[in-house]
Amino acid sequence: MIPLEEAQRLLAECVKPGRIIDLPLLESLGLALAKSVTAKSDSPRFDVSAVDGYAVSLDDFAGGLPTLPVSGILEAGTTSREALKHGRTLRIFTGAPVPRGAHAIVMQEDVTIQGDKAVFHKHPAPGLHIRPRGGELHRGEKLFESDTIITPAVAQTLAASGYARVKVYARPIVSIITTGNELRTPGSSLQHGEIWDSNSIALQGALQALGITSIRMHHVADHLASTTRAIRTALERSDIVIVSGGVSVGERDYVREACTSNGVREIFWRVSMKPGKPIYFGTARRAGKTKYIFGLPGNPVSVMVTYQLFVRPAILQMMGHHNTHRSVRGILATRLTKSDSRLEFVRACREYTTGEFPRIVLLESRESHMTTSMAKADCLVVFPAARDRLDAGSEVDVIPIQWGTY
Ligand code: AMP
Ligand code: MG
Repeated sequence: MIPLEEAQRLLAECVKPGRIIDLPLLESLGLALAKSVTAKSDSPRFDVSAVDGYAVSLDDFAGGLPTLPVSGILEAGTTSREALKHGRTLRIFTGAPVPRGAHAIVMQEDVTIQGDKAVFHKHPAPGLHIRPRGGELHRGEKLFESDTIITPAVAQTLAASGYARVKVYARPIVSIITTGNELRTPGSSLQHGEIWDSNSIALQGALQALGITSIRMHHVADHLASTTRAIRTALERSDIVIVSGGVSVGERDYVREACTSNGVREIFWRVSMKPGKPIYFGTARRAGKTKYIFGLPGNPVSVMVTYQLFVRPAILQMMGHHNTHRSVRGILATRLTKSDSRLEFVRACREYTTGEFPRIVLLESRESHMTTSMAKADCLVVFPAARDRLDAGSEVDVIPIQWGTY
């Protein structure tokens, strides 16, 4: 049994970013840029009007506030290169290119129209309401560093700069193997002793939340040969294999043995934590590539907690993310005690009130088969191994439960 920090360190050392692929922007959300990118054009691309108003030459304001004939209209999207003539003004809308010869745009609120003439009530400063070409960025300037996570706002900036596709680290292909004679598909009828398989849906849902669509599902009975076969196939066909159940110390727990006979190198098995102690992690080489295999203890809450602490960070790392472990501080609302010397993760909810830190409200059930409290929780309180009580009002570390990529 090893401490959690060591297990997480070993895992982080093993996992490498996925291959670099070129994807359309919308498919790249949540992934990290594999290369830095530069602006494909100036931003703005041309001198552009920031308001609806009138384009003017300051020469026409030399003798005081003028009244000028309106000689045309420039709308957003116009490709006209019509220049502003002396002694005239041009009607211009937000987003339209500023005509040659114009020094400023006067807002329509500061103008009254008399027939086909504009009467100006304000003297504009040079450049007023003109967003100059390249005012934000020049073509060729660094837009984003490599490893930038593509959020909708990053995608927007890339699109605005002319990118339709980007080079990113690929999402992994994942296999999920559920083990257990007792498991049946949700919706089917059950015999005494049988239960519905809830881990399949939980893990598939978690992967979908990371944008992973290549998911292979497989179920095996508690049987060594079938478990070995399922793991062999999964290692060939996917980058990551997640096995649920069968990884503990019972005579019917075959996952570890099946991994060994498939040539998997065990990185760790059993971590001093609760829930999730029997977690297993190993690597294997297939066709020149490193494959990762997780054995998650089958108790539904253990599956979710170990997914949060190990699997999700590893997948994010493959997708090019850094800083995959985030914790925040909170103030415990009620006292917490334990008798176990293991580090424990206690389900809780954060309440944001007026204080500097959120109030941490503990959920009733702490056992690893009780999924309702996992479903309600939005964070896990870190109850350190060395402590047997944490008083109400004390400051604690909590790990926010997160499913998505950002
Ligand atoms: P195991 O890790 O195989 O010893 O399973 C631990 C507990 O989790 C047992 O009570 C199993 O019935 C339960 N369990 C295992 N796999 C699943 C699953 N896919 N869905 C729901 N419960 C499960
Ligand atoms: Mg089992």
